[in-house]
Amino acid sequence: MTQRPPIPQEMKREIRQRCGFGCVVCGMPLYEYEHMLEWAEVQRHVAGEITLLCRQHHGEKTNGLLPKEVVVASNQNPYNKQTGTSKQHLLHYSGQMVRLRAADSCFEYRDLSDGAFFAPLVIDGLPLVAFRIEQDELLLNFIAFNELNKPIIQIVDNELIYDTNLWDIEWVAQTLTIREGRGRILLQLVFSPPSEIHIRKGRLLRNGIELLVGPNYLFNTNNSIFLGAIATVNCPVGFAIGDHTPNVGAGIVLAGILRYEFDRKQARQYLRRCLSERRSND
Ligand SMILES: [Zn+2]
Repeated sequence: MTQRPPIPQEMKREIRQRCGFGCVVCGMPLYEYEHMLEWAEVQRHVAGEITLLCRQHHGEKTNGLLPKEVVVASNQNPYNKQTGTSKQHLLHYSGQMVRLRAADSCFEYRDLSDGAFFAPLVIDGLPLVAFRIEQDELLLNFIAFNELNKPIIQIVDNELIYDTNLWDIEWVAQTLTIREGRGRILLQLVFSPPSEIHIRKGRLLRNGIELLVGPNYLFNTNNSIFLGAIATVNCPVGFAIGDHTPNVGAGIVLAGILRYEFDRKQARQYLRRCLSERRSND
């Protein structure tokens, strides 16, 4: 018997995209790769012969409780492809201590009380990340957009959903990565319930505003503003960019953002300069 080689990364991505980034039977966004033809017989990895099943449906298939025919039919009409959005998935946030980390910056609220609202990141008056407590339950809300201002991923009161027409979404353990193309990460989130969400990397976009989240910096491309390791504690709004800043004590505000009349190339050059200066200071 030859050792079974791993499924190549690019093939896995192709399978994820075809299956709508979820179990083909129920849409669950945490899944395993399942060979529809028995490995022992075919001994090959072919994208079209592999599908996605969640643990429960994988187990049922293995135990003969989910017929092969049902898996094949679901593979041809994946659950998440039917509506264009993934099935909602509950994230287990709870308690009164909450925190957004964005690169090496941190916005937190300790002891959030019932009825209170904390928006660690706001663009043009819209909270991209927000926590509130309602009837003793901590609720996390999150939204991220693409360049066309269309939501691509959302957490609505702890329930995660995403657009299933993206190029790639890969969720492994706590880390969810959205890619726009090969090697191009649009957003990488790390969920650490009960209290923390971390935007590790990516581009946050809204109404022509771009906030780059690098490994150890935040950078607003429009106005070439380079920020590292900023932090707020117990400010109802942590970091606000753009217009319509909520009038409730924002910790850090970037206003007067240029929408169209800025030079992206120059901004990127400035960012590279900031990063190399920082490295030489280390
Ligand atoms: Zn399933």
